[in-house]
Amino acid sequence: METLKRTKIKALLSEKPGIEVLAKGWVRTKRGNKQVKFIALNDGSTIANIQIVANAELFDEELFKKITTGASLAVRGKLVESMGSGQAVEIQATDIQVLGECDPMRFPLQKKDTTLEYLRSVAHMRLRTNTFGAVLRIRNQMAFAIHSFFNQKGFVYLHTPLITESDAEGAGDMFQVTTLDLKNIPLDKKGNVDFSKDFFGKKTSLTVSGQLEGELGATAVGEIYTFGPTFRAENSNTPRHLAEFWMIEPEMAFYDINDNMELAEEFVKFLVQWALDHCMEDLQFLNDKYDNGLIERMRSVLGIAFQRVTYTEAVEILEKAVSDGVKFEYPVHWGTDFQSEHERYLVEKHFCKPVILIDFPKDIKAFYMKQNEDGRTVRGMDVLFPKIGEIIGGSEREASLEKLEARIDELGMSRKNLEWYIDTRRYGSVPHSGFGLGFERLLLFVTGMANIRDVIPFPRTPKNAEF
Ligand code: ATP
Ligand code: MN
Repeated sequence: METLKRTKIKALLSEKPGIEVLAKGWVRTKRGNKQVKFIALNDGSTIANIQIVANAELFDEELFKKITTGASLAVRGKLVESMGSGQAVEIQATDIQVLGECDPMRFPLQKKDTTLEYLRSVAHMRLRTNTFGAVLRIRNQMAFAIHSFFNQKGFVYLHTPLITESDAEGAGDMFQVTTLDLKNIPLDKKGNVDFSKDFFGKKTSLTVSGQLEGELGATAVGEIYTFGPTFRAENSNTPRHLAEFWMIEPEMAFYDINDNMELAEEFVKFLVQWALDHCMEDLQFLNDKYDNGLIERMRSVLGIAFQRVTYTEAVEILEKAVSDGVKFEYPVHWGTDFQSEHERYLVEKHFCKPVILIDFPKDIKAFYMKQNEDGRTVRGMDVLFPKIGEIIGGSEREASLEKLEARIDELGMSRKNLEWYIDTRRYGSVPHSGFGLGFERLLLFVTGMANIRDVIPFPRTPKNAEF
């Protein structure tokens, strides 16, 4: 068996019949009768299985007992035209080796139709299912597409730190990073925790965003993007929030809010198109199994311009909807942050296309957003998508030192840990903009999965960090 090189199943399925092949993978199913067994083998290279046809005369009865769902095999044989429907070729086995047996009584994936909820409880094994194979391959393609997009545009991939001293980003609650002995915490004279004794000599946390460091990069090399893990200790058990998620944050010198919106729209359209071009088999599977509107919804965002609308106009639309009898769980009036139900109403019911919201009340947005002339709104932008709500949040940044400092003071924030950031406005400040795309929110859109826990291999959510 060893003299022949293994071919991945994805490649085998498009080979011409007649050749001698070696396939390796995991058994999905086994069926057949006394004379002949049919084994569906999958190696993760594609959603499709290759069918192994094993003539019972050629093999030991004992061997077939070991070929159970989940077991791993090496199969040598001849690639032949398939008699059955559904595949062009199959392997007429001449040699089968069981690499690893799989106890059918204990294998967590033995049930035929396992719910996504159940699969989360066996997340270490769920990657073996067709569903998670499809999700992982799409996730991989999207990561590659992201790097391709920015690489084509000459953006620099900037690695921003995961451990940070700044607690001023205001994007969400943070996880503290410490090596202090929690049973014996050093206190200062006032009785507060003495962080000078901690590993970094300061209080540190896991980052909620790479943006502030991203701005340092953009104001040096022009256009950067980050793509890395982000942590938020939000105790919100929603289908759209994770405690650990991945974010893509481009930051561009000399971009105003319009350039920013254009880039965001081009970017997400590029990614959706990429998924359609490179992942169709997996999309078709997910479309048929979970969400038969998936592919159509993906296509629907491509041909059209996203609707640009100010927050103030959006409030008027939502207030009118309420007075026309639409029921929202949360109230909406000028000054409130929109909930997902409001965002989805705008996208799915009112405009029937993705929406870019701009010009938010300054009180619901971060300190660094560029202040508008009206004195009450800032140049933020949120991109809202069907079924998801917010997929991107960004803004033009406040480039004026005076205005930025005034806002920091107005909010009562400590400047102490922010001086390095403010330096961007002291030395060669430029108009600049950026945004953050939640990688898993994008994946919700391009997989049709309803719960964000099902688009990341090992989800971290409140009370759950297993596997
Ligand atoms: P939301 O209002 O949906 O909680 P946010 O306004 O707090 O999001 P931003 O700070 O604007 O989020 O972050 C940028 C992007 O990161 C969001 O548009 C979203 O796609 C993604 N994101 C934010 N928080 C989470 C989370 N907890 N889990 C997964 N993705 C997230
Ligand atoms: Mn946001």
